[in-house]
Amino acid sequence: MKTISHWIGGKPVEGVSGNFGPVYNPATGAQEKQVAFASPDEVDAAVAAAKEAFAGWGVSSLAKRTSVLFKYRELVDAHRDEIAALITAEHGKVHSDALGEVARGLEIIELACGIPEKLKGELSTQVSTRVDVSSIRQSLGVVAGITPFNFPAMVPMWMFPLAIACGNTFVLKPSEKVPSAAFKLAELAAEAGLPDGVLNIVNGDKVAVDAILAHPDIAAVSFVGSTPIARYIHTTGTANGKRVQALGGAKNHMLVLPDADLELAADAAINAAYGSAGERCMAISVVVAVGDTADPLIGKIKERAAKLRIGPGDDPASEMGPLITKVHRDKVASYVTGAAAQGAEVVIDGTGYTVEGYEDGHWIGVSLLDRVTPAMDAYRDEIFGPVLSVVRVETYDEAIALMNASPWGNGTAIFTRDGGAARRFQLEVEAGMVGVNVPIPVPVGYHSFGGWKDSLFGDHHIYGNDGVHFYTRGKVVTTRWPDPADGGINLGFPSNH
Ligand code: NAD
Repeated sequence: MKTISHWIGGKPVEGVSGNFGPVYNPATGAQEKQVAFASPDEVDAAVAAAKEAFAGWGVSSLAKRTSVLFKYRELVDAHRDEIAALITAEHGKVHSDALGEVARGLEIIELACGIPEKLKGELSTQVSTRVDVSSIRQSLGVVAGITPFNFPAMVPMWMFPLAIACGNTFVLKPSEKVPSAAFKLAELAAEAGLPDGVLNIVNGDKVAVDAILAHPDIAAVSFVGSTPIARYIHTTGTANGKRVQALGGAKNHMLVLPDADLELAADAAINAAYGSAGERCMAISVVVAVGDTADPLIGKIKERAAKLRIGPGDDPASEMGPLITKVHRDKVASYVTGAAAQGAEVVIDGTGYTVEGYEDGHWIGVSLLDRVTPAMDAYRDEIFGPVLSVVRVETYDEAIALMNASPWGNGTAIFTRDGGAARRFQLEVEAGMVGVNVPIPVPVGYHSFGGWKDSLFGDHHIYGNDGVHFYTRGKVVTTRWPDPADGGINLGFPSNH
């Protein structure tokens, strides 16, 4: 069986802890690989490599950094298919969806290629006689990233390209369920000429994460994952004096007003609820239908759902793949069965779905629940599967009150033709990313991605300008060059003149 190792100091390093985790192919249910789990000593070795590399990389020229990043961009682009295939083999999402995540990750490498523009700083001349002030941003040192299973390549690329462009060195702890895509990204970085030790990978579980959080040589931690772990990472990391951005889970609502184009709204609901089998932090999991929209909208969603092709991600005919693990599949199914018991109407029950020839895969069909209320588990929890709930409300005000009572605030969307209503919604909704007739409003690389409330702990969103700020710290330099005219004794407090 193939073993995925760590990547430290520019090369693969076998795990020595003796602990390994299984890596499954979700379409077959078979364990095809195992991944080494790092001990604190192995994390320490990766941090030591990163610290050593920082001595050179931290002072390297912008020209040097960007020449590596431009080469890296070309290599990742040329290996899109291979990276996507690794994602499909371990995560299960369909190949086209995996290619989409590589494309969105590439956006951040492209942003990183333009880092000189972001690090230009500011200069004020003659703030006082012969005195200039400049603001510059400098790297932090060794920074770490901890990533979730649902975007094996994109979320690591949200982090390390920008971090290293800013002059930091990086230790990545990918999800132990999907380690191969990140490993490939590290190999390509070496091929692009990234010096050894600038990007390191430690695979593992909570042991490796806790070693990162406690390590005195790590200045900052970027985390993306579920809300309880995000909260833990933020609390522990900041208590240990680190800068932390921790992006958490979500329960994204899509508001449909009576004047919306219901054909487009139904398409959007299907794509955003069932794409990637609902395993997206920006998936739509609740449709809030205002007035008399619910019945026709549900009819249109039902028609479309019946035609979805669910199957192995490497079959080009498949539109939706399996779930990540068997345990997760069973948990998702329990929300559908539980919802009926709690009073919801199960319009589509996908729990019995299986694929011929792949009977041990982690399959579930799509489910649609109607007349869901905030008291039900299916509404309250992040299900992270292909289950769409419909909540019926009478008015816009009732809808916004419901949505803003949610503890999460990642993404949200409004479907309407009414510009005034859309404008009100943008201003009133408590979420970090808002779509107007756009169901999954993931910001492009040069804006920043992040939620509100329990969807993000910390002050910085990820990538874009917030990303640059997160991976750098500011310094302000006040300069006066000696001039014979400046001499003389004056014990007063310096004042501008
Ligand atoms: P997870 O929180 O279980 O795991 C994320 C990372 O934390 C992994 O690397 C894992 O090894 C580590 N981890 C898990 N348990 C830990 C523990 N007890 N102590 C320390 N570290 C631990 O998340 P997941 O299941 O891999 O990913 C799905 C979740 O991620 C969903 O909640 C989803 O909404 C969220 N997510 C959020 C965003 C976002 O941008 N806000 C993006 C993608 C995924």
